Amino acid sequence: MAKKKLSITTKILIGIVSGALVGLILNIYFPHIFEPLNEYLFDPIGVLFIKAIKMIVVPLVFFSIAIGAAGIADPKKLGRIGGKTIALYLITTAVAITFALLLANVINPGEGTDIPLGTEKPEISASPDIKETLLNIVPENPVQALASAEMLQIIVFALFFGIGMALLGEKVSRVKEFIDQSNEVMIKLVALIMKTAPYAAFALIARAVGAAGIDLIGSMGWYMLTIIFTLLVHMFISYTILLVLFAKMNPVFFLKGIFPVMEVAFTTSSSAATLPVTMECAERNLKIPKSISSFVLTLGATINMDGTAIMQGVAVVFIAQLYGIPLDIQAQLMIILTATLASIGTAAVPGAGMITLAMVLNAVGLPVEGIAIVLGVDRLLDMSRTVTNVVGDLVVACVVAKGEEKRGNKELPVESGA
Ligand code: ASP
Repeated sequence: MAKKKLSITTKILIGIVSGALVGLILNIYFPHIFEPLNEYLFDPIGVLFIKAIKMIVVPLVFFSIAIGAAGIADPKKLGRIGGKTIALYLITTAVAITFALLLANVINPGEGTDIPLGTEKPEISASPDIKETLLNIVPENPVQALASAEMLQIIVFALFFGIGMALLGEKVSRVKEFIDQSNEVMIKLVALIMKTAPYAAFALIARAVGAAGIDLIGSMGWYMLTIIFTLLVHMFISYTILLVLFAKMNPVFFLKGIFPVMEVAFTTSSSAATLPVTMECAERNLKIPKSISSFVLTLGATINMDGTAIMQGVAVVFIAQLYGIPLDIQAQLMIILTATLASIGTAAVPGAGMITLAMVLNAVGLPVEGIAIVLGVDRLLDMSRTVTNVVGDLVVACVVAKGEEKRGNKELPVESGA
C-alpha cells in the first residue's frame, strides 16, 4: 500500500507538539540531560534556521521592493486608481498594526514569564529617535546600507531603484529581468528553508520549553490567541466599515462571495498562490470589473499584508515582554512605521512574514534571536494571517471599484480583458 505523504501543516503540528512534550519532560525530570542536548542539538538547529532566515532578508527585501516599485511606477498603471489603491493599502495596514499594538499591550501575552532562553539577555540600546530615523532613511551609501542590513535605508534605495527602472522602461529591460529573476530565486530559497520548518519547530520549541518550562507554553498560547483575536477584530471592524460605508456592499454578500478565497489562502499560506482564485471570485461573485481587479489585486498580493503586520506588531511586543524590555511610545511608533514598510517588502509566500519580522525587531533595537521563540508556532498563524491579507486586498478592490462606478467611469468595461 502506498504511504500517504503528510502535509507540511501536519508535520509542523507534530513538530510543535512533540517539541513541547520533549522540552517539558526534560525541563521537569531531566534538566541535566537538557543541557547537553540543547547545546549540541536543539540550539544548533535553531541557530542555523535563524541564520538561514537572516541570510535572505536583505536580498529578498531589496529585490521584491525594487521590482514592485518598477511595476507600480509604470506610467500606464499609475494615476488616480493607483494612488487611491496605494493610499488605502497603507492606511489599512497602519490601522491593523495599531490594533495589534493596542491589544498586545492590553493582553500582555509575554508578561509574567521569566525565560532564560538559553542565551543571555541582550544589551539593548535605547530605541532610536524617530526624527533621526526619518533623516537617516535616505542612505548616503547604499552598499553600506545593504552590508549592515539597515532595512529602512534598503527600502528607500530599492524604491528609488525601482522607480528609475520604470522611468527608463525598455532601455533597461535586462536589468529589470535580472532583478525579477533574482526575486524569484529568493522566493524559492524561502520555500526551501520553510521545508525544514517542522524540524526547526521541534528544536526551537524543545529548546524554549526545555529552558523555561510550562510557563512558556501558556505564554505561547496567549501569543497565538492575541494574534488571532486581532485578525478577527481588524476584519470585523475595519473591513466592515470600509465595505458598508465606502463600497456600499453587504458584508454577508461579500463573505459568501469570497469564501473559496479564504479557504485557499488558509490552506496554502500564500497570497500569491491564492491570487488566481482571488481574481476569479472578485470578478465572478463580487462583480468587480477586470480592469480594476487585475491591477488592485495583483498589487495587493504584493504589497498589502494587514495580517502580516498584525503578527509583527504582536510578536514585537511579545518578544520585548519576554526579554523584559519596555517599549516606549516612540518605539511603538517605530513599529507602526517599520511594520507597514515591512509588509510591503514581505513576499506573498509561506513564512515570508517571519523574515521581515527580523527587520522590525532590528529597527526597534530588539534582538533578532527573539524570532526563535515565535517561529515554532508560526505556520499555524501564517495560515490565519494570509486569510486577512487577501481579504484586505478584496475589500480595497471593492472600495476602489465603487469609487470608479460613482465617477461614472465607463471606460471600465466588466470584461475588458485588460
Ligand atoms: N504568507 C503570507 C502571505 O503570503 C506572508 C507572510 O508570511 O506573512 O500573505
